[in-house]
Amino acid sequence: MVRSTCIKDAAIAAFGKQLESARRIGIITHTRPDGDAIGSSLAMLRFIRSRYPRVEECRILLDTSLPSSIEFILHEEDCTSIMVAAVLGAEPIGEYIAGCDLLVVLDMNTPSRCGEIESSLRNSKAPKVLIDHHMNPEAELFDPMFSTNELSSTCELLAGVLCALQGSDDIPFECCDPLLTGITTDTNNFANSVFPATLETVSLLLKRGARRDEILYSLYNSYPERRFRLMGRLLDSGLTITENGAAIMVLDSETSEAFGIEEGDTEGFVNIPLGIGRVRLSVFAKQDAGEYRISLRSKPGCSANALAVKYFQGGGHELASGGKIPFGPSVPTKDEILSLIIRYTDEFFQAQS
Ligand code: 5GP
Ligand code: MN
Repeated sequence: MVRSTCIKDAAIAAFGKQLESARRIGIITHTRPDGDAIGSSLAMLRFIRSRYPRVEECRILLDTSLPSSIEFILHEEDCTSIMVAAVLGAEPIGEYIAGCDLLVVLDMNTPSRCGEIESSLRNSKAPKVLIDHHMNPEAELFDPMFSTNELSSTCELLAGVLCALQGSDDIPFECCDPLLTGITTDTNNFANSVFPATLETVSLLLKRGARRDEILYSLYNSYPERRFRLMGRLLDSGLTITENGAAIMVLDSETSEAFGIEEGDTEGFVNIPLGIGRVRLSVFAKQDAGEYRISLRSKPGCSANALAVKYFQGGGHELASGGKIPFGPSVPTKDEILSLIIRYTDEFFQAQS
């Protein structure tokens, strides 16, 4: 397999040594984990179990639960190795991390992306390894670090790291479905961020037995009906397109509740308006506890990342980013949020022209 230039021999040797000598490992990924976060965490967990039997304990530590749309990927034995701060509280996870002699951080570039787990991660004295494809990693925290944004996903990068660690392309079968799931979701089913090496990695995973048909069925043909009912409502009467070509959809809690929406049900909504010719940027704002969560997608020439950093306390990738609009005790109306986003995007486009 072609190896990404960010996977250096010395870093692989160092990571291999860390895995050989570790007894308790924590795998950490971002809050509200998506297919890439869960896929990479699970592949890492299963790889450690299969290749490093001297590791006594290895767990995936999550801030919030995985969405039900990704649960299909879990085996029963994985479930006992996952701890969720939103379910157990942050304390037991902090205790687990304090006893770790190695932390592997996946699909996030800074501890501030892992919610309640942030301080335990920052305070830990254990070596921290980063495997990630976001921009601007907090590099001083990690050693070794495998980081590039020239790959589709953390799962693609991890596939390369696993091959390099074992010195062969024989990725264990049980890692293949999680890795393919993350590559599939982060590329929006091979619509974006597909590099020549991405398809080589996928080819390898398919040769090793990854079950692409089952993965696609679980991801894209198993949604609850309420997702499409809400999508219809939003596209019909909840979509604003500004003269500048910013498409904006705002989903408040009242509407979410009326449709019975659960976490994960609106995954990918932000991509839909980009299909409209004159839309350059799509913004999806969803009300959450104390904030509106913001998802941003853009077409080349318009930086979703710059907008996320400047206006939404967030970041991500050049064309796919996220962030938030926090609010205090008085909850803004849907129209107030819409006006605010129109103002931000107008200002953003004006600054560019
Ligand atoms: P999504 O819109 O799918 O939630 O996120 C798109 C991209 O933006 C992902 O790569 C994700 O990691 C990143 N992202 C989402 N929310 C945030 C955030 O609050 N802060 C930062 N730095 N990145 C985010
Ligand atoms: Mn990712």
